[in-house]
Amino acid sequence: MVLAEGVRKRFGRLEVLKGIDLTVERGQVCCLLGPSGSGKSTFLRCINHLEKVDGGKLTVDGELVGYRQQGSRLHELREREVAERRRDIGMVFQRFNLFPHMTALENVIEAPTKVAGVSRSEARDQARHLLQQVGLGDRAGHYPAQLSGGQQQRVAIARALAMKPKLMLFDEPTSALDPELVGDVLDVMRRLAADGMTMVVVTHEIGFAREVGDTAVFMDEGVVVEAGDPRQVLAEPEQERTRAFLSKVL
Ligand code: ATP
Ligand code: MG
Repeated sequence: MVLAEGVRKRFGRLEVLKGIDLTVERGQVCCLLGPSGSGKSTFLRCINHLEKVDGGKLTVDGELVGYRQQGSRLHELREREVAERRRDIGMVFQRFNLFPHMTALENVIEAPTKVAGVSRSEARDQARHLLQQVGLGDRAGHYPAQLSGGQQQRVAIARALAMKPKLMLFDEPTSALDPELVGDVLDVMRRLAADGMTMVVVTHEIGFAREVGDTAVFMDEGVVVEAGDPRQVLAEPEQERTRAFLSKVL
């Protein structure tokens, strides 16, 4: 589903991604770990067309990110085409960034009705179902300010799922939450994974990565230092840098 080969990204003189190699198969959960500034968010943003890749090859579901192929020629995507590709990718950030003036239900039906042309009644039925799935069936009429951080984050997940994405990206979805709210959000993600969603998850929740991840990838300074079975990478890392990092987060 996601294939990165030597992906490079720079901001001015700062090279943030220095040749990322990574594969996420359909239906798999890839957990991405690494120190602050190692390029994790930038890499997710590249997958989702929020940043432009400077070098290497990055494909999502077989399509080159940022380009469309016509015969043997590559054409840079137009804005509208980028928007179309992005519809297939759900993203959940550290900060829940729900629309504050809309209820949970309105947040979830916004994109399907405004962007995907789904009728309001159909979108509403689907949104109720999604809110139920994330354990918030009784909170549909609440505004974000009336919900806890964990509840807001679960609405954000429901909102992303409303577009029926083929890939979900999570950027530290629980790191802004009070500890007692983390579990509910991870449970929702765990179920999503069990249902077969392809996911790339930036997280420092080692337990989650070990139980749910099909692969764990440790990044540092813009490269993948170590990748593989989470039970191996997180329990018996081969690289000293991975070991040093894990000893700090565990
Ligand atoms: P964290 O764990 O703190 O979220 P990260 O691994 O997600 O870190 P990134 O946010 O990808 O790291 O940032 C990698 C580097 O790129 C950092 O040095 C950051 O300052 C820099 N950077 C990110 N976005 C930009 C930008 N838009 N312009 C300039 N520099 C940027
Ligand atoms: Mg980040």
